[in-house]
Parts: sequence; structure tokens; C-alpha cells
Amino acid sequence: MSAPRADRPISALFAENRPLRSLEFFPPKDDAGVAALRAAATALQRIPWDFVSVTYGAGGTTRDRTAQVSAILKDELGYTVMPHLTCVGHSRAELDAIADTLHAQGYRNIMTLRGDPPKGATTFTPAPDGLRYANELVSLLKARHPDFCLGVGGYPEKHPEAVSLDADLDALKRKVDAGAAFVTTQLFFDNAIYHRFVEKCRARGITVPIVPGIMPVLSFKQIQRIATLSGSVLPAALTRRLEVASEDPDVVEFIGVDWALDQIRDLLAHGAPGYHLYILNRARSALALAAGLAA
Ligand SMILES: Cc1cc2nc3c(=O)[nH]c(=O)nc-3n(C[C@H](O)[C@H](O)[C@H](O)COP(=O)(O)OP(=O)(O)OC[C@H]3O[C@@H](n4cnc5c(N)ncnc54)[C@H](O)[C@@H]3O)c2cc1C
Repeated sequence: MSAPRADRPISALFAENRPLRSLEFFPPKDDAGVAALRAAATALQRIPWDFVSVTYGAGGTTRDRTAQVSAILKDELGYTVMPHLTCVGHSRAELDAIADTLHAQGYRNIMTLRGDPPKGATTFTPAPDGLRYANELVSLLKARHPDFCLGVGGYPEKHPEAVSLDADLDALKRKVDAGAAFVTTQLFFDNAIYHRFVEKCRARGITVPIVPGIMPVLSFKQIQRIATLSGSVLPAALTRRLEVASEDPDVVEFIGVDWALDQIRDLLAHGAPGYHLYILNRARSALALAAGLAA
């Protein structure tokens, strides 16, 4: 059997100096969720996305689903797929083995993360012979396969555990210095916060592309929960619109797309290197956004 086709590194796509558009999927819990994801990803094929990513869960079956969904998106549907990988629960030897498997399967792009502490815990505890911070995972992956192109997470509103934005920027610099090729941000709803973050990164010598992560609101309750978890502020104007719309899910989705469209237009006008959509495995808003942005 011939070796799988190796993906193009996303860094080569950035080098084309055009805004990249990408999507994030998460591994569903069951087969029905996988079928729904396949249907959404098929509908989304109408748009030439540059790449899609698949998140990595806290353990067990959800991790198998990441591999299954990544293979569906890559081998069946022809997407360039960037699987996520975290340090949670893995020894160095396990991470080396995962790196080898992903590389042999043709993946060349990995979103490289520490991962969250388990539910109920407030601090992160490394696995035995595991890693404590994402910069260590960047180093491990680059040492194992230098042709990996690695993305890392950035936090315009500060990572919730960081003592200050300055300390968090130091952590981001360490990840980039270890070999990360680009940063994808946590979701945010106020572009001024992203613009300030990029300025601070540049002042610190972080020169790689910083891709804004955008989540079109699908439900008021859900976005309030997600914003609290991620530490992202919901601007008063967006909150007011969602309050007025809250009785009708279709109107909420319309408001969400409208807000995200304004965000993306402004980001691209100010030179953002693209946009990464957190779509929660749903096609409709992403299609509406791509249509709204068509020139
Ligand atoms: C784009 C994106 C995708 C994500 N995908 C996933 C996913 O698929 N699965 C998942 O479980 N989670 C995911 N997350 C969430 C992420 O795992 C959590 O935010 C996690 O708590 C931090 O991960 P990190 O890679 O940013 O960690 P790190 O960069 O290691 O930072 C973690 C914390 O430690 C601090 N820190 C870092 N280095 C040092 C150091 N040397 N000394 C002291 N402090 C330090 C940082 O300031 C920060 O507060 C994603 C986040 C983003 C932005």
C-alpha cells in the first residue's frame, strides 16, 4: 500500500499572503454525532476552506473519535486536517508515539496545547513523565518530526490561569520560540481586544501570524456559558441584541452571524491573516458567513 499523501504545511499557505479561512470541529460522543458531522462537513465543502481542525478531548473514547473524525475529513472529504493534541494524561513516550502515527498518516499540521485541568480541578497536573506546558509539547513534536507545522493557542483576554497578560505573553513567546508557526486565538467578540493583543505580541517580538478565532453565536445561554469558561467579554451591544432575539433561535442565529460578519470584515480590513471559525459542528452559520464575505 502506498504511503498517505502528506499535507501541505499551513505555514506555506500563509506565505501566499492571502487570508486563510478555517473551521474547527469537535469529536462527537456517538455514531449519530459522527453522521451529523459528516453531513455538516459535506455541506461545507461548497466553500474552499484552507483547512479544518479537530479538537482533542480529555481522554478515552473521545480521543479515538478525534482520530476517526480527522480520517473522515481528510481521506473521505479531502480536507486538509489539523488534529489538536494536548499534554493531558500522556507520558512523553506516548506523545512521541502519537506524533509518529499522525506523521505516518500524512498529517503535517498540529494544534499544540497543554489542555485544561480535569473537571473540578483548578490546577493542571502533568501525567507521570508528562509535560507541564504547551511549549514543551511544541519542542517534543519539532524534535520528533521537524517538518510538523505547529499552531498554538493565544488568549487576547488572558488565559484564565495566567497571573497577568504580560506573563501570558511570555508563555506565548516561549511557544513560538520553541517552533510554533502560528497562533490561533481564543474566541472573542470585541475586535479592539484582538487588535491590542496583536500589538502587544509584535512589541514582544512574536512575529508569526495570529489568526483570530471567531464563534458565531448559536444560542444566548450557550454563549454566556462559553464566554464565562473562556474568560471572553460579551459586549453590551451584543448582549442587548441577543436579549431581544432570545425567544426565537433563528433570530438569535441571525444576530450571531451578523455580529461575526462585522467582526471578520473589520479584522480582514485591518490585516488579519484569516479567520478560524468555531462552528460547534454546525454548517449553517459558517455557510452564511462565507456567503456574506464573498466578494
Ligand atoms: C485555538 C485553541 C484550541 C484549543 N483546542 C483544545 C483542544 O482541542 N482540547 C483541549 O483540551 N483544549 C483546547 N484548548 C484549550 C486549552 O487546552 C486551554 O486553554 C488550556 O488551559 C491551556 O492550553 P495552552 O496550550 O494555551 O497552555 P499553555 O500555553 O501551556 O499555558 C497554560 C497556562 O500556563 C501559563 N504558562 C505557560 N508556560 C508557563 C511557564 N513556563 N511558567 C509559568 N506559567 C506558564 C500560561 O500563561 C497559561 O496560563 C484550545 C484553546 C485554543 C486557544
